[in-house]
Amino acid sequence: MNDPESSITITLPDGAKKTVSAGTTVADIAKSIGPGLAKSTIAGEVNGKLVDACDPILTDATIRIITPKDAQGVDIIRHSCAHLLGHAVKQLYPTAKMVIGPVIDNGFYYDIAYQRSFTADDLAAIETQMHTLIATHYDVIKHVLPRDQVTAIFEERQEDYKLQLIAQLIADMPNETQMGLYYHEEYIDMCRGPHVPNTRFLEHVKLTKISGAYWRGDANNEQLQRIYGTAWATKKELRTYLNMLKEAEKRDHRRLGKELDLFHFHEEATGAVFWHPKGWTLFQQLIEYMRRRQQQSGYIEVNTPDMMERSLWEQSGHWQNYQDHMYTTETPDKQTLALKPMNCPGSVLLYKHGLKSYRDLPIRMAEFGKVHRYEFSGSLHGLLRVRHFTQDDAHIYCTTEQMQKECTDIIELVLDIYKQFGFEEVSIKLSTRPENRMGDDATWDILETALVESLQHLALDYQLNPGEGAFYGPKLEFVLRDAIGRDWQCGTLQVDMNLPARFSLEYIDNNGARQTPVMLHRALFGSLERFTGILIEHYAGKLPAWLAPLQVSALTISENFNSYASRVTQALTLSGLRAELDDSKEKVSYKIRQQTLKKTPFMIIIGANEVETGQVNLRLLNGEQMNFANLASAIDHLTTICRPPDAINQQQAIAALGFQSYSTSIPLT
Ligand SMILES: [Zn+2]
Ligand SMILES: [Zn+2]
Repeated sequence: MNDPESSITITLPDGAKKTVSAGTTVADIAKSIGPGLAKSTIAGEVNGKLVDACDPILTDATIRIITPKDAQGVDIIRHSCAHLLGHAVKQLYPTAKMVIGPVIDNGFYYDIAYQRSFTADDLAAIETQMHTLIATHYDVIKHVLPRDQVTAIFEERQEDYKLQLIAQLIADMPNETQMGLYYHEEYIDMCRGPHVPNTRFLEHVKLTKISGAYWRGDANNEQLQRIYGTAWATKKELRTYLNMLKEAEKRDHRRLGKELDLFHFHEEATGAVFWHPKGWTLFQQLIEYMRRRQQQSGYIEVNTPDMMERSLWEQSGHWQNYQDHMYTTETPDKQTLALKPMNCPGSVLLYKHGLKSYRDLPIRMAEFGKVHRYEFSGSLHGLLRVRHFTQDDAHIYCTTEQMQKECTDIIELVLDIYKQFGFEEVSIKLSTRPENRMGDDATWDILETALVESLQHLALDYQLNPGEGAFYGPKLEFVLRDAIGRDWQCGTLQVDMNLPARFSLEYIDNNGARQTPVMLHRALFGSLERFTGILIEHYAGKLPAWLAPLQVSALTISENFNSYASRVTQALTLSGLRAELDDSKEKVSYKIRQQTLKKTPFMIIIGANEVETGQVNLRLLNGEQMNFANLASAIDHLTTICRPPDAINQQQAIAALGFQSYSTSIPLT
């Protein structure tokens, strides 16, 4: 043991040190700590790198043992489930060819080439086979072999796709001579690992769906089948997730969009929304809300052209870096134009119009800009992923000194807005300088510090994503959690000193010298189309009254009351409520059912009593009823309850200025 060649020092997370012989594995160390830990060891982290529990440790190292309790442990379980899926598929369908099986959020998938389409029955059979294999608790064995041997193994197995992947690996990494193989009994898969040491860790797995995919993601290549699954560390987590999926299906905005008559899509305009009157009303509520919030926060609103000259996009760098996603066109006079994929260059041209002084700054320039980005049709998903969408974009031009205050104000604004839309849980991610970046480190220090200090100033927690920033500046991302626990990244804030320099933006400082302003890019909803989809799913279609496309529906009990009901509806409309009359010949119970399905928050039922007495019978979506002595008091109630949440803030803000706000002031008479 005294031979320095053969003993190494291991440091555990609590700082404890152990001297062990070189070649000891994570599994050995776990065993020396205790049998419980040994049993739950999935893998290890050695000097910050994930390794298999069976990998020998050859140098002094800091190690951490990974169990199913760690997020990495769950990822390893998911990845191993992909291999297990391969094992089961090849036992049931020996001629199937395995392609790739990566981990995704909450689960994994495997792309498979097979002569016929897999059915739901196949999926069930594969899952049963997986569970049979899990129950045998077989060990997963790792072998690291020379490349030639690996190639020979997959040649013998006629795994054509694996062979192509190996050839590509060899081309990409000519210096790597060895490759890792994982043996699930007779099934062999190649992988970097790490993987679970035994299938007993894989119990909480469920296959979820089959979809199509293309080899290398290219629609010109042969079609493959993709089997999706989910896997968790415990039965409880699996069950919670499956319940969430079921709930998500019920809330699917594409289905609700149809049921609530909000929008549809057409083959003639893939990835573009056809808004129906009700959907467009909802969309407009978002714009009007954001417009008010921006006006109150000192923004100006502008509009820039949809199509601009190629030279502009060359100057912005989009032509070189983003062309695959751009729609371009040539005019009869041979100009090449592009539909804007982003609003920044247009905003920059507006800023450049006329000389700016330090006294003009900050300029907070907002635009509800419609942007156009070509995406593969396979990646489109209802309103959540479209090719043509509207951003609540704004660019803030300011001095370096003003930058942090502007960042703080934006963060406060976005969090307040999400709260008003019913999202209480918001997490923040900070992405810092990537490896490939523009600008010097001193500039990056300034930009990153501005974001960090803004967050600290507001005492907000954040998750750091080192190296994930844009090439021109660091970024904050705002992720909101919806009613069923799903996370959606919506708002972003980026600080940028690159684009202003690229476009030679200037302002004159207080000494008369020319300076370059800082530019902040921010979108709070992000894409309005996407945010609408998220709202529909968050509320399961039952939108808050202020957002509901139709707020009140007047329903007549018989035709005799149509003319009175029509006057009531007009009065509601004139009061600023979104109201409609159903004076059809249907029974009132049928009308109520229809409005309930449409999730209209309020119904006013009109019959003989209402016409004679002028009283109002208001019915809520949950069946509760309220009676009002007259229409005026009903309208008072409705306009209060349908008031947007920012109206309440507005009154508080007026009070904060030392004035009585209009609704609380007492008339002088
Ligand atoms: Zn793997
Ligand atoms: Zn921008």
